[in-house]
Amino acid sequence: MIETELGSLRRSHYSAELDSSKDGTNVTVMGWVLTVRGHGNISFVTIRDKNGDIPIVAKKGNCPDEIREKLSSLKPHSSISISGIVKASEKSPSGFEIIPSEIRVFSEVKKIPPFEPLAKTVKNIDTRLEVRPIDLRRKVLQDIFKARSQVLTSIRDYFNEQNFTEINTPKIIATATEGGAALFPIFYYNKEAFLAQSPQLYKEQLTMSFEKVFEIAPIFRAEPSRTNRHLAEAISIDLEEAFVDYNDVMNRIAEIIKISLSAVNNYVNKNPETEFIIPKMPENIPQYSYDALVEKMEKAGVKIEWGDDLYPTNLKKIGLEGFYFIKDWPLGPKPFYVKSSRSNPKLSESFDLMFGDLELSSGSTRIEKRDELEERMKNKGMKTDAFEYHLGAFDYGMPPHAGCGIGLERLIMALTGTENIRDVTFYPRDIDRLTP
Ligand code: ATP
Ligand code: MG
Repeated sequence: MIETELGSLRRSHYSAELDSSKDGTNVTVMGWVLTVRGHGNISFVTIRDKNGDIPIVAKKGNCPDEIREKLSSLKPHSSISISGIVKASEKSPSGFEIIPSEIRVFSEVKKIPPFEPLAKTVKNIDTRLEVRPIDLRRKVLQDIFKARSQVLTSIRDYFNEQNFTEINTPKIIATATEGGAALFPIFYYNKEAFLAQSPQLYKEQLTMSFEKVFEIAPIFRAEPSRTNRHLAEAISIDLEEAFVDYNDVMNRIAEIIKISLSAVNNYVNKNPETEFIIPKMPENIPQYSYDALVEKMEKAGVKIEWGDDLYPTNLKKIGLEGFYFIKDWPLGPKPFYVKSSRSNPKLSESFDLMFGDLELSSGSTRIEKRDELEERMKNKGMKTDAFEYHLGAFDYGMPPHAGCGIGLERLIMALTGTENIRDVTFYPRDIDRLTP
């Protein structure tokens, strides 16, 4: 057997497993140097692991001199292991400290970090993104991404309880689903292909066999503008269901918001220092029709014509806050697969879920009849031939179906009170950024 770098050295405890009751226990802890202070004969070092902080106190006479000297020479971010004995201590905020008897430095940092590891805010987001893996050690971001992980777990649990099947659809596709402008073209062997801007057509097809499906996966949009709410690569929580309409989907979304909120609240209860601004969940999420909001806007003096989009600036002017739905949008601008309303063919069976002026989700009842779908595509100037791979499915009993896509990053922004979508994305991609 070859000798490994780490050998038999392993962590015995995470920070969360240590307290004054472990007084006298021999432990090995591992993590990153957070702070180093020393006055002559004593050095204080804090190391941080994935759960929290561990105080190390090296005093002359208490631990070997070379360990004390090594500790006091360390720079923040160095990754180390300390073996030693736990000592209960009233002076320490965590109620204990570790007296080191052995140290192992895995990688010693020589550079001065571009920001303090403890900093709550670092103004320039680009400075942070350049060293994203280090930025992600900061407590604010740890909280956001750990809460995000729990939100995802509870959403998956919800889908499982409700008998949905988790699907994965191709991200390399032949044709645009929602109009071509926002697509990224790629080389696919000797052909042109695109990165999928949504799983739309595939998830619809899969309702023919699985009825209730969901996918949590990237969508790609060549967004031309620089905003705090658009990424070039985002994660979409898509759901699609057979034999239901858009009203059922709105009910599901309300459930999903409820369980996501409770996942975040649970996280905060367990981590009371978290600084999220968590929204309140209304008993029922209010629903406004597009027409009603246009009327409100006209009354508020906004210049708007029926059929226009309801822009964030205009939504602000009528003071809508928290979660609400805007439903029954004009059919014209909606994608070809959205069903028109029976009572008024100018309207569609569609909705957006909003949080203030931020769109979190769009959903609709979809068309299940081939001729209706083809008609809509032709009206939009689309070539139906290129979609035969999709249209062909409609010859074999497509059920009535409805669904939606929820932007995960935007949902997390709403649930934690985060302003910039880049802060809720591990490695954001936008018009200016392709690294790290
Ligand atoms: P917007 O009008 O805000 O640009 P959209 O209407 O183009 O969004 P949809 O095609 O309806 O977006 O996509 C469904 C959901 O996916 C959106 O409500 C949003 O939450 C999310 N989403 C769409 N595009 C992006 C993007 N570029 N970055 C982050 N999330 C996005
Ligand atoms: Mg939308």
